Amino acid sequence: MQLFADWHVHTHYSDGHATPEEMVAAAVRRGLTEVAITDHGPRGMFIGVRNAGVYREIKEQAARLSELYPVRVLVGAEANVISLRGEIDVPEAVINELDILIAGLHPQVWCRPWWETLTWILPNRIGKTIRWVREKMREANTMALVAAVRNNPLTFISHPDLVMDVDLDEVARACAAAGCAMEINTGHHYNRDNVVQAALRWGAKLVVNSDAHFPSTVGELSTGIQLLDKYRVPPEKVLNARPVEPKSGSGYLPGAAGLPGRLVPPVS
Ligand SMILES: [Zn+2]
Ligand SMILES: [Zn+2]
Repeated sequence: MQLFADWHVHTHYSDGHATPEEMVAAAVRRGLTEVAITDHGPRGMFIGVRNAGVYREIKEQAARLSELYPVRVLVGAEANVISLRGEIDVPEAVINELDILIAGLHPQVWCRPWWETLTWILPNRIGKTIRWVREKMREANTMALVAAVRNNPLTFISHPDLVMDVDLDEVARACAAAGCAMEINTGHHYNRDNVVQAALRWGAKLVVNSDAHFPSTVGELSTGIQLLDKYRVPPEKVLNARPVEPKSGSGYLPGAAGLPGRLVPPVS
């Protein structure tokens, strides 16, 4: 299976270590057709963008870079889930201007209301060695992520079950119903077999991304491809896949208004 895009990349606008241009140049070196700059939402403690207006700044740069480099540069946000009700930290007016919307659970986030930082996020950070706390937090995390999937126009959720445990079956079911993909994140080495298995069980789509914070890892998707091959995931179930030998009249359709495209079945 070949992948044509990496839709999860950070720059120095959040906690990445390079400029958008350096990340885009790296995507070109990898031979990608598309790359998306997806910096962290503003309520990430020490890792978020200054404010949601920054995404507009990144968009201006992306338009310039799309002309300079032979790669389509999209702009998205990796929004934080900031409440148990699944609210995210990117406002609707900004979402409407983005090409890609990701949401993820992160253990370094300021909640709204603020006290959920203490009652929800903090126990995830310090209570995981206590079994009942861990189980309670898993329930809470699942509820928040499922609500985020249902209530926001997400393209995909990032690194499900990383650090903040969730019930992957519940999450996959919600993703399948909402048309939201689940990410195989190649930037974090945790048990991603469970993510693939849950997605396949419930019919949710998958997407493979690097979560690169440095140019050297942009488009480094090989461990994700290995997983797709291991579970014989067909390309039509993977948002950023391209069949190895597409027949004429089939393949990748670019999305309208800059949205991710989709794969169409071969026309026989
Ligand atoms: Zn993340
Ligand atoms: Zn990320």
